[in-house]
Parts: sequence; C-alpha cells; structure tokens
Amino acid sequence: MSGTKPCPMCGNENWDGSICPNCGYGRTVSVKYVTKSGEVLYSEFSTKNSYTFEHWFTDRMQHEGGFFPYEGGRINCDALARIEVVGR
Ligand SMILES: [Zn+2]
Repeated sequence: MSGTKPCPMCGNENWDGSICPNCGYGRTVSVKYVTKSGEVLYSEFSTKNSYTFEHWFTDRMQHEGGFFPYEGGRINCDALARIEVVGR
C-alpha cells in the first residue's frame, strides 16, 4: 500500500494527506478571542478527524475547565466576551 488514499471526509482521490482541496478536511481554522477588557487574542485548531468549531469549543469547556489556548498561554472563558472563527 503506497501513494495516496482518498479523503476520509468526501472520498476525493486527489487528497494528498494534508488539506483536501475539495472539502477542506485537515485545514487549520483560526479563532479570535475578544476579552472583556477588549484585548484580541488568536488561536487555531485543525479540522482533522471531522473536528468542528462546536466540538473544539465543547472540548475546551468540558475537558479543559473552560480554558482556551492562545499564542503564549491559556485564558478562561470567564474573561472572554467573544470567540469567533476568522479564517478557513
Ligand atoms: Zn475531502
């Protein structure tokens, strides 16, 4: 077994194992946080294994004690006014 295999999401035969050009499987999603004091922080996660924003958010809330990762640390949801997806 060598070479490529089809995208696990859409079956696209041209999937090269990174980001599927057809459905976007494996892409990195950028997330922006706006804190209650108005500071803007950024993070990102991969959509590999059908990981969605909702799933990522729920995992942080249920398994990480409400802490969200960003460049340089983690911040609690209590300090956040908004979380939004900014890129895909
Ligand atoms: Zn695909």
